[in-house]
Amino acid sequence: MIGRNGMRDSILRPSTQLPNVEDRLPRYVCVLARVASELVSDVVRFVPIVVFLMILLGGVAAFASPLTILYTNDIHDRLGSLAGLGELIEQERSTGNPVLLFDSGDTWQDFRAPLCAVWGSDQTVAWMNDVKYDAMEIGNHDLYYGADKLAELSSKSDFPVLCANMVPLAGHKAPFAPYTIISAAGMRVLVIGVITAEYLSYPDYPWLKYVDPAQAIKRVLKETQGKHDFVIVLGHLPVAQAAQIARVVPDIDVFLTGHSHEITPQPVKQGKTLIVQAGAFGHYLGRLKLQIDPQSGKVISAQNTLLETKKNPVDLDRGYLKLFTVAAAIATSLLLLFH
Ligand SMILES: [Zn+2]
Repeated sequence: MIGRNGMRDSILRPSTQLPNVEDRLPRYVCVLARVASELVSDVVRFVPIVVFLMILLGGVAAFASPLTILYTNDIHDRLGSLAGLGELIEQERSTGNPVLLFDSGDTWQDFRAPLCAVWGSDQTVAWMNDVKYDAMEIGNHDLYYGADKLAELSSKSDFPVLCANMVPLAGHKAPFAPYTIISAAGMRVLVIGVITAEYLSYPDYPWLKYVDPAQAIKRVLKETQGKHDFVIVLGHLPVAQAAQIARVVPDIDVFLTGHSHEITPQPVKQGKTLIVQAGAFGHYLGRLKLQIDPQSGKVISAQNTLLETKKNPVDLDRGYLKLFTVAAAIATSLLLLFH
């Protein structure tokens, strides 16, 4: 068959396809038809690959368990932040995904805000019970009230208060536990607490022996071998120190830190360990959204967000109002006494 355009037609025309029709059609229609036919054959060729990928991804999604870890640190009795934090926590719980809520210490005390601290520690513990914390690590500030007050606050807490690297000497009992194991997202989640050696109030606690955090974590991991699928450390210590620990103890999945008032918009990664911190004073609620393979406990994907809280100045004023009331009562008593 010889086309109107001779040689050029024979190049464009497939040798066995519709020669008569093609000859009768304008040239651009033939080109379009050929492009369309190649496109269709390309799509057909890739369909099995696309289907395979969809099955694979669907399989991963089907087997992955979502787990949201909410975290705070160094709240330092800032009562004005608690309502805002509570709202954010409620919002996250309302999504229906499994949620764990942790605090990494320096929660109940602060020299810089004595009014909040004096009146606020019990209020903060009550709030933590209300919003259902799953565990907290004590910070150096939380020890400053002394052993009796620490024991009282700890006993009022509906959640485990942790610290694995301050070990009571024989005959003494600490008002905290080294670790706890929580069921979440179909896994046994081991939660270990550790504290920095910086600014520890040793004179109040001569019966506590400080142990290197990495050694303490290793000891707990050995003790709980085979009893957990996922490991979270609550560390009242800076991000850099957490990275050093994760280098020595590579089994930690998530390391929630504190003490240094750092902000980690993205998790700092050391090996498989995701290290985060949420600033201080309840300005942020940290949210680490994970997809985890429940069989291996391996994190498939992680998304970290620092959610900003709204401040409630009314709550802050309560401390001053209380102080004013007490001062007025003392002044009245003195006046009556010396009148
Ligand atoms: Zn601290």
